[in-house]
Amino acid sequence: MAWSERQQAMLRGMGLKVWVPPPAAEPLLDTPPPPAAVAPPAQAIERPAPAAQVQAQVQAAPVSAPALAPVARPAAPAPVAVHVPRSDSPVGSMDWPALREAVAGCTACSLCESRTQTVFGVGHANAHWMIVGEAPGEQEDRLGEPFVGAAGQLLDQMLKAVGLTRQDGEAVQQVFIANTLKCRPPRNRNPLPEELARCSPFLSRQIELVQPKLILAMGRFAIQQLLGTDESVGKLRGRVHQHAGVPVIVTYHPAYLLRQLTEKAKTWEDLCLAMSVYRRQLASA
Ligand code: SF4
Repeated sequence: MAWSERQQAMLRGMGLKVWVPPPAAEPLLDTPPPPAAVAPPAQAIERPAPAAQVQAQVQAAPVSAPALAPVARPAAPAPVAVHVPRSDSPVGSMDWPALREAVAGCTACSLCESRTQTVFGVGHANAHWMIVGEAPGEQEDRLGEPFVGAAGQLLDQMLKAVGLTRQDGEAVQQVFIANTLKCRPPRNRNPLPEELARCSPFLSRQIELVQPKLILAMGRFAIQQLLGTDESVGKLRGRVHQHAGVPVIVTYHPAYLLRQLTEKAKTWEDLCLAMSVYRRQLASA
């Protein structure tokens, strides 16, 4: 199929090269196939409509639920601690201001000693889409915002490709972005299980307050925290998971994509799956 100029611009923004078919006058059989390394996957051909457009379509007329690609087999997770806030935790009843204040002053694990500041999260308080990353890096620690720098720019391009943004907007367009861990581990080392466990009530409460229609989990530690499994991203992606009743789509972290450029096409597939699930959520609401 032909790509519109806008679609091509968005795919280029994600770093995906676009194969442009020859003019119709050329005999098709003489047309060499596009090189596998640069062609978007078959699933990526149909670009999902932007989120706002999807909502308008659903409100205008009944939408039959799309056939999802999901979930051929149930997840068989290896046992990993599922971090659910304790019922007696005061975090579980906090409103936004109290939660923000609690995170800013938290000393529940040793990461409080090395952080510059906590990284609470940004976005719409009732966003339809919630993006969950891993832990703050150096720039996030310095600026107090998740997903900044090159990885953040790539995330912004990915969001833009499906009509979403971190900038001010309606709940249907503006996402909420949070990390699993609110403080930067020294030298960007991997988070420790105890740190993840102690920080988990904050993310859980953010999800409860936002009540997203869909969560996009980016990276291994976000997935571990939300799904309680240590299976690889590669094994978990392409299926619809659940966290506290919210559909979860897993994909690679943008920082990983910057090192593994060939995986960008898979993340585009994951975004298409996420949009399909989101459409179904809206249609069934
Ligand atoms: Fe508190 Fe989480 Fe920071 Fe640890 S990482 S000090 S639990 S906010």
